[in-house]
This record gives sequence, structure tokens and C-alpha cells, in this order.
Amino acid sequence: MSEKSVMERRMYLDGKWVEAASGETTEVRNPFDGSVIARVPHGDREDARAAVAAARRAFDHGDWPGLPAVQRAAVVRRIGDLVERDREELARLETLDTGKTLEESRWDMDDVAGIFRYFAGLADKDGGEVIESPNPDSTSLVVREPVGVCGQISPWNYPLLQASWKLAPALAAGCTLVMKPSEITPLTTIKITELCEEAGVPAGVVNTVLGPGSRAGAELSESPDVDLISFTGGIDTGKRIIRAASGNVKKMALELGGKNPNIVFDDADFDLALDHALNAVFFHAGQICSAGARLLVQDGIHDRFVDALEARIRKIRLGSGFDPKTQMGPVISPEHLAKVEEYVAIAAAEGARLRCGGARPDDPALQEGWFYLPTLFDNCENDMRIVQEEVFGPVISVERFHSEEEVVERANATVYGLSAGFWTRDPDRIRRVSRALRFGTVWVNDFNVYFVQAPWGGYKQSGLGRELGRIGLEEYTEVKHVYQNHANKPLNWFGA
Ligand code: NAD
Repeated sequence: MSEKSVMERRMYLDGKWVEAASGETTEVRNPFDGSVIARVPHGDREDARAAVAAARRAFDHGDWPGLPAVQRAAVVRRIGDLVERDREELARLETLDTGKTLEESRWDMDDVAGIFRYFAGLADKDGGEVIESPNPDSTSLVVREPVGVCGQISPWNYPLLQASWKLAPALAAGCTLVMKPSEITPLTTIKITELCEEAGVPAGVVNTVLGPGSRAGAELSESPDVDLISFTGGIDTGKRIIRAASGNVKKMALELGGKNPNIVFDDADFDLALDHALNAVFFHAGQICSAGARLLVQDGIHDRFVDALEARIRKIRLGSGFDPKTQMGPVISPEHLAKVEEYVAIAAAEGARLRCGGARPDDPALQEGWFYLPTLFDNCENDMRIVQEEVFGPVISVERFHSEEEVVERANATVYGLSAGFWTRDPDRIRRVSRALRFGTVWVNDFNVYFVQAPWGGYKQSGLGRELGRIGLEEYTEVKHVYQNHANKPLNWFGA
């Protein structure tokens, strides 16, 4: 695959690679230089409807949901093996599409392969349970069954990783599905659809529809033939999906945004906390739902910590994701760059102090792409928008705090509840603070660590339900109680 050629791709409905019904196409661009890298179908509601119909047929009349779990697991495991085989191609596609460094994309692909293997391993582990019933002449079974047809809508920041968090457990559980990747970054989702086909997933079980969220995505969340909608994306889109999904009371799994506090206490390992404070926010140019974009530093070390942070931020190397020297790539699109710029202006107007960044780079090599300098604000207060709202870019805000009690209250004072981290050497404090923080994931002396065995999801407005872990598989199941009476007798109650 040449980085310069324009790829032509299609979408996958009912086992066939097709154009949009309208025949319209759209261009996919490289955030590094704005160049066109692919042309893909511009799907609409009609295409999403066709995809849902195929998934519905495959669920209601196909073999997949009733296949012995070991057989489904073998297919899911094969997808993981194919991801490993095509790791480099997938990683290069992801870097072309998102601008993130190739090293980050390779890590993503290793995680993706692991996700399929993990859910393949879980697929045949839950045979249901026999429960106690009040009638000794009866048997009560509790079994899990596939939830049905799933709509799976994913974002642009971790295109294949987020899609795989949904695809692997849904397949393992015996569901059929329609994936709708972000219109900005569809390439690796298209590629994994090819791998599903190669691995032996039957026609209609996996469908991939492309197109804008407001059309193709909205159709999935509204459709009465979709039983579960799983969405990862922004909070406003999430609220729209909740409303749309209420029509047929769909099951919902929502992974929404975050504004994640990273708290450094005076007694922390200074150098370690500093190093990780940078990773927490500037990885993938801050476009991570769990980015530690909100740093809170205790007053005993605050000034020294922020000075050292600024010095390291000024040395971050921007560039092409394909250049091994690059530490940070561009943001995803011109619209997103404008949003980051708007937040920087808001922060300055609110009285936060700009320590570095706050502009596009002047390096002539970066002028065609959507680059923004890593940016540091200090003197931030809890009620500022830069502290409360998700910028989703390379911008960190710093607040000063005095006591443990105060920082816990401040950290929790947010509508979000995705993740939080803190740095301390005090074991009593570790116990207290990890309990007191109201977030779906709490990291102690680390940040931004996730793995497939551990559940992922948000408290409060950061979402509904959990992905990954055992619970990530259970989200794709319905629970059924089967009661059998072995020795029933007439009641002789009515008209006897
Ligand atoms: P987005 O909400 O704009 O779009 C996400 C997806 O939803 C895209 O595929 C889009 O096409 C689709 N969509 C848009 N409007 C829709 C509608 N009306 N109906 C149905 N689908 C629609 O989000 P984004 O900008 O792609 O991603 C960034 C956001 O995702 C951030 O807020 C980030 O925090 C969040 N995110 C959360 C997690 C998590 O695990 N909680 C992980 C990654 C990203």
C-alpha cells in the first residue's frame, strides 16, 4: 500500500461489497497534510436500513446465534489471528487516517488482536445456572442468550480499537450487527470487515455501513429492528441517541466523553508523576476520552511541578506519524482544530494563564496539516469551562489545591465520571481517595491504563453500561429464566 495512492473502498451489506444506493462517495483525508487518501461510499438511511434488514434476517433465520459457542469462538479467535497477520497494514492505515504515530497504531493493533482472543476465550464459559426454586418438583435454569441485532457506532479517535470493543463481544455472544464507523476514519473498520469475511463469519452477521452519523447512524439508533445500540462518542450525540433509541426501548451501551482529573499530591514520586502527566494528556494529541487534561497539583510542589511540566511540553516534537522521531501528530480535522482554538480563547478570556502553546506551530513542514502546539494553562479554577468541558485536544489545565478533602470534592464536581488518577505514596490516602472518587476507572500511581480483562465505562454522564471484561460480553446478552414443572397437578380454581 502506497501512502500516496487514493484507495477506493466499498461498504459491506449482507455479504456483498457495495456502493451507496445513491451512488454518492466521500473523501477521506490525511490529517497530516490534508491530502485525499481514500474515496468511500457516502451511505444514507436507505443503506443503513438494508444493513439492518440483513442483520435481522441473519439473526432470525441464520445459523450464527444458535451455533455452539465453541464454533463461534473459533471464528472470533481467527479474526484475532488475522489482525495479528495484517498488523502492519492495519497500523499504517490507522496512522494515515488519524495522524497518530505509527508506534501508537501498532499498540492499538496488538490490543485489537487481544480483544478477539479474550472474547473468543469467554464465549463458551457461561453455560447458565440452575437456581433454587420454591417447588421441589421443578427445575429453574437461568441462561444467557444473544441480545439480537446490534447497531455499533464508533468514533474517530481509536477507530479500530473502539469498533473491536463492540464487534468481538457481540460476535462471541451470537449477535448479528451493523457497524457504523466515524465518517472521518472508516478505513480500518472496512479492513476488519474483510478479515471477518476471511475468518468465516457468515453473510449478514457483520455488516458495515458508511456515512454521516446524522443519517446512517441515526437510522441505526431509530430502527425498530435493532435490539441494542452501542455507541462511543460525544455526550451530545449520546443524548440524541438515547432519545432516538426510546422508540422501541432498545438496550443501550453508551461510552461518552470525559474530563479526567489527574491529581498529584505533595508526597508523590515527582519525576514519575511529571512524566506520566505528559503522557496522560498529549498521547494522540489529547484526543482520548480518558485524557488527563485536568491536572490538580498540591500547593507544596505546585510551582516546581508546573515549571518542569512547561519545560518538557516545549520539547514535544510534532510531525508525521510515520516519522519515528515524532511524538505528537495533528488533530483529526480542520473543524476539530477550530474547536481546540475556540477553547484556548475561552480559557484565556476566563483568566487562565497561558504558559506555552496556544497557537498553531510555525514550522513550514506542518502548515498543510491540522497541527496545534501542546498547550499549558495554569491558574485554573474549578468553574472554568476549560476545566469542566472536554476539549479533546493537546491542552492541559492546571489547578492548585491545598488538602485531600478539597481535591476530592473538586475532582468529583463534574458531570463526567469516566476516569481519574492520583499520585501519592501514602497507603491510607490511597484507600480513602480511590473510594471517594466517583469515576468508572481510578488509577493509582499511573494513568491511562486499560486492558481487555478490566471493565471500562463511565459514572454519571460519561455513559451507560460497560465494555471489556466479562461484563462487556454480558452487555450483548439477554437473561432468560426457564422454569419447568416436572409434576404439575390441576388447580381446579376456575369453573371447577
Ligand atoms: P461524535 O459523537 O461526533 O461521533 C461518534 C459517532 O457517532 C460517529 O460515528 C458519528 O458519525 C456518529 N453520529 C454522529 N451523530 C449521530 C447521530 N445523530 N446518530 C447516530 N450516530 C451519530 O464523536 P467523535 O467526535 O467521533 O468522538 C469524540 C468523542 O468520543 C469524545 O467526546 C470522546 O470522549 C468520545 N469517546 C469516548 C470513549 C469512551 O470510552 N468513553 C472512547 C473514545 C471516544
